[in-house]
Amino acid sequence: MAIFETLKKYKWMLPILTKADRRIKAILLKNAMNKKKNFHPDGDYKADVKNLINCMLCPNMCRFDCGTLQAAGTEVMSPAYKARIGYYLTVGKIDPTKPENKEFVDLMYKCTSEENCKVWCPFEFSVVSLLETVRDDLNAKGLMPDYLKPRIENLNNTNTIEDHNIFLTYMENRIENVETDGNDEVFYYIGCEMMKFPEVVKANIEILKKTGVKFSTNLDNRVCCGGPAYNIRDLETTKKFASRNNELIKNTGAKLVVSDCPGCVLTLTRRYESIGVKIKTKVIHIVEYFANLIKEGKITPNNKLDYSKLTIHDPCLIARNLNDTTSIRAILKSIPGLEISEPVLNKESVHCCGWSGTAHWADKELSTKEAANRVNELKETGAFNFVTACPLCELGLKYGINEEDKEKIRVLDVSELLVKSL
Ligand code: SF4
Ligand code: SF4
Repeated sequence: MAIFETLKKYKWMLPILTKADRRIKAILLKNAMNKKKNFHPDGDYKADVKNLINCMLCPNMCRFDCGTLQAAGTEVMSPAYKARIGYYLTVGKIDPTKPENKEFVDLMYKCTSEENCKVWCPFEFSVVSLLETVRDDLNAKGLMPDYLKPRIENLNNTNTIEDHNIFLTYMENRIENVETDGNDEVFYYIGCEMMKFPEVVKANIEILKKTGVKFSTNLDNRVCCGGPAYNIRDLETTKKFASRNNELIKNTGAKLVVSDCPGCVLTLTRRYESIGVKIKTKVIHIVEYFANLIKEGKITPNNKLDYSKLTIHDPCLIARNLNDTTSIRAILKSIPGLEISEPVLNKESVHCCGWSGTAHWADKELSTKEAANRVNELKETGAFNFVTACPLCELGLKYGINEEDKEKIRVLDVSELLVKSL
């Protein structure tokens, strides 16, 4: 800012300053001169200090919509507070190496990455993106929290986030595997987490077969996308998975990759690009693919289904990161017999299921509370069939359903409905 503009901006302070005593004037002058040094100390850090400061000085304008804050019910969990602690950890005002400060380090991971803060922030900050830069420094100092280390070990040992290679469970779950012959039209990229929902995978395979498209699943050779490592900010591990997935996708010859997990879509595209890996094949979520096929008349849902009380839970990664709030609705609208009600907070304003990001590893109780909050919002519609399109949402919402409702409420993937209607 030019000196003239600075003087103009702060001229209201002049009458106050002229009346202040000499000691106060001296302190103010010293602080003004050392402002840069005090707030931006020299150091070899990756943290986005400038924007952490901007966020921590904000009156927390997005706080009312932060899922972890609502779940915890304490200001410590607010976005601006997280930014403030991130800043203090970065510049050493809080020493992250001291055991008594572990709680502050953990706070950097108690974020569901749902980015409600970004929706309301006048600067369009995503606090999770700011926290990721703080995590980069913590990891560089060897301070990755212990509860995250087994996730990375699993990735290195089993190529998935689980302690066993979850893709190989396809045999016991009777999921058909289609290995590529190098000449596919579509590569159906199943998420590690979706392997926990074999009925959804089977539904997607069944729908793909009905389209007549030449596709593969390659479950004998599949590895995780590396998204969990990216969230934890182990970027070396993420790069390893990026390179393996790049090879695998190239080997299929596919013109299109469709995934049932929005986290995989985001990782294979934007997250890989941010670490210098470009997947040349187009990658989209499977709901977008199916919605397009319905629009083009390539598949037509004809069978009437009897699901009268049904509501939609938009996965935050689809609604806010992939910017798609129409595909799920287009698929459901095309299925005869459905009575769909919308929750008050839907589409771009959806609240998280609690299972996104690193929060469920850092504090499972907190994530479960956030999930229960979302389940209550969905219940307000009067519906007891919750439809979504993300394995983590399915997992999170199930954690959020209380004992009395367990028999009554069903969490479904949109594909489970579509396949019944074809
Ligand atoms: S994310 Fe934006 S609105 Fe929220 S506290 Fe930070 S600066 Fe303020
Ligand atoms: S990403 Fe979500 S949980 Fe994290 S600070 Fe923003 S609103 Fe809160």
